[in-house]
Amino acid sequence: MNAAYRINELREQLEYHNRKYYEEDSPEISDYEYDDMLRELETLESEHPELLVPESPTQHVGGSAKPEAGKKIRHDVPMLSLEDKFSREEVVDFVGKMKRELGDPTFIVEPKIDGLSVALRYRDGEFMQGITRGDGINYGEDVTANLKMIKSIPQTLSEKIPYLEVRGEVYMDNEVFEEVNARQEEEGKKIFANPRNCAAGTLRMLNPQVVAERKLSIIIFNLQAVQGKEFKSHAETLDCLSKQGFQVSKYTICRTEDEVWEAICAIDNTRGEFSYGLDGAVIKVDSLSDREKLGTTSKVPRWSIAYKYPPEEKQTKVLHIEVNVGRTGRLTPLAILEPVRLAGTTVSRASLHNQDQIDRLDVRIGDTVIVRKAAEIIPQIMSVIKDKRPDGTSPFIIPDKCPVCGSSAVRETTNEKEGSGILCTNVNCPAQLARLLIHFASRQAMDIDGLGPAVVDALLEKGYIKDLSDIYYLRDRREDLIRDAITGRSSAKKSDTSKSTDKLLAAIERSKDNDIDKLINGFGIRNVGKFAGSLLKNNFADIFSIVNASIEELVRLDGFGEISAKAIIDFFKQKQNIYILERLQNAGVNMKSKAVNSTIDNVLEGSTFVLTGTLPTMTRDEACEMIEKHSGRISGSVSKKTTYLLAGEDAGSKLTKAQGLGIKVLSEDDFMNILK
Ligand SMILES: [Zn+2]
Repeated sequence: MNAAYRINELREQLEYHNRKYYEEDSPEISDYEYDDMLRELETLESEHPELLVPESPTQHVGGSAKPEAGKKIRHDVPMLSLEDKFSREEVVDFVGKMKRELGDPTFIVEPKIDGLSVALRYRDGEFMQGITRGDGINYGEDVTANLKMIKSIPQTLSEKIPYLEVRGEVYMDNEVFEEVNARQEEEGKKIFANPRNCAAGTLRMLNPQVVAERKLSIIIFNLQAVQGKEFKSHAETLDCLSKQGFQVSKYTICRTEDEVWEAICAIDNTRGEFSYGLDGAVIKVDSLSDREKLGTTSKVPRWSIAYKYPPEEKQTKVLHIEVNVGRTGRLTPLAILEPVRLAGTTVSRASLHNQDQIDRLDVRIGDTVIVRKAAEIIPQIMSVIKDKRPDGTSPFIIPDKCPVCGSSAVRETTNEKEGSGILCTNVNCPAQLARLLIHFASRQAMDIDGLGPAVVDALLEKGYIKDLSDIYYLRDRREDLIRDAITGRSSAKKSDTSKSTDKLLAAIERSKDNDIDKLINGFGIRNVGKFAGSLLKNNFADIFSIVNASIEELVRLDGFGEISAKAIIDFFKQKQNIYILERLQNAGVNMKSKAVNSTIDNVLEGSTFVLTGTLPTMTRDEACEMIEKHSGRISGSVSKKTTYLLAGEDAGSKLTKAQGLGIKVLSEDDFMNILK
């Protein structure tokens, strides 16, 4: 492969994963895999310096400040990341280099917590402001209100220090994380990949109460700025911060490379004893004047490095391979493992994804396997130890019958190519119905509080629900639901059961008023997501005009792909689905688009808007609502079809593109003037 090609490919992948990690809090790969890619890119760039560009992910700190989450705050002291090292040689190199430059420096080794970095500012000993790392150099987000909910952040320091800024790592205990995810799953909400992402997502939430419930903690690892106190060493600052009421990093003082390496190994050996995730150790020069002398590069300080531990791996046995059926009918093999402690949590299952993966690993029931789990939560089977294979095993093949309904299961095909998934062919498969109901009730769809997996299972088991529309007829069976204690344990008091039943029925009633994009999303049509749902809502007066739309009409919508259009047509072609729709309508479920029907006037008819940047007074949602109410359309990307670009502060590439195409750019004021 050509180096330039590979470099481009790596850059694209890294940017994608950066976005997933920093902006969406939902990484798809482990840090270890990410680091591997980054290192490959660094190596290629050093071999081909002519291909190095300033925009390369190797040249800047990952992530950007998310404008919509909180007010942007300028960093007084940059919150840099550290250069990562992966071997003893690299650590020894660093220590040697420091000795050459500084004589005989003292080093500090600290555990590196897998959390997210924030800076805390105190004035006259009072907590004043807390900000996230953001882009690390210029801006972070203001998350003060949420940080006030963290118990380990002192609101008042022991001493009235005129000004203090410290940096720490916010994290979530493994145990709390597992509780949060269990609750999320029960309520049909998003499952977090790992404690760090859960902590990051929590800290950006708009409701400080939830932050309090999720019990975040913080450990302080650096003094960023201070007035009214003098320090000579890092150790001294940590001791002082501890006296001020902070929970600070535990540190080891070292003088030689052997001592440094020993300290790193000592932390690694006790990783399992920490109640939170560690992803490495940090090695720092202790003397503050030495640090100043060494300074920083544009990306990292020269006086510190991070040593990253390899992901933890352990041997365990495959007790069984379970085949589950998902909402889309896909049969997914799941290895049931002999429970093993890995990276702070107990691992007892690992997805095998599909038949191809099973074949590649040749994993069989009874095999001893190596399981890996880095700080990430999804464990992976890496390989099979063939020497330990018991006699009489045979290759595992996913059955060609659905394990739930017994219908035939076939390989999926997309675009006439054979895919890797195996699907149950029965559209009324109960396994699919359970998942569909949970999805239907989830927040991004009809948002019915209390209709989680446990309740759905009970409703299906007792035969209260045969298809989606039955949800809206449960009100007629209130007494039965209470008798069968559908909403709770049968041991619960009857008064409690009727209370929770009424709560559920009320939530169902409320959901009838939702706009139609939520209903469309609730149907769980493949390839028709939230975005397609809102396009339909904005362009059709009601559900039945969507049912009657032709494929041409759908494809004509800006941003609506042919695959989604075809999926819509196929879905409403099925009699069963029309029957469900009619029953929903008879039960009083809203079928009219509120976006189209709440139009104030047609001032913006025929205009397509694209939004970018932060507007001075309006949120993005408010602006979108205004545009829709005046009959305008919204699109996600700038094209020749765009009429206006509504641009605020920090507009990005969309602005450049719009200017290039000669599209009219509006400020918030210009926009309001058009509406007058
Ligand atoms: Zn089935």
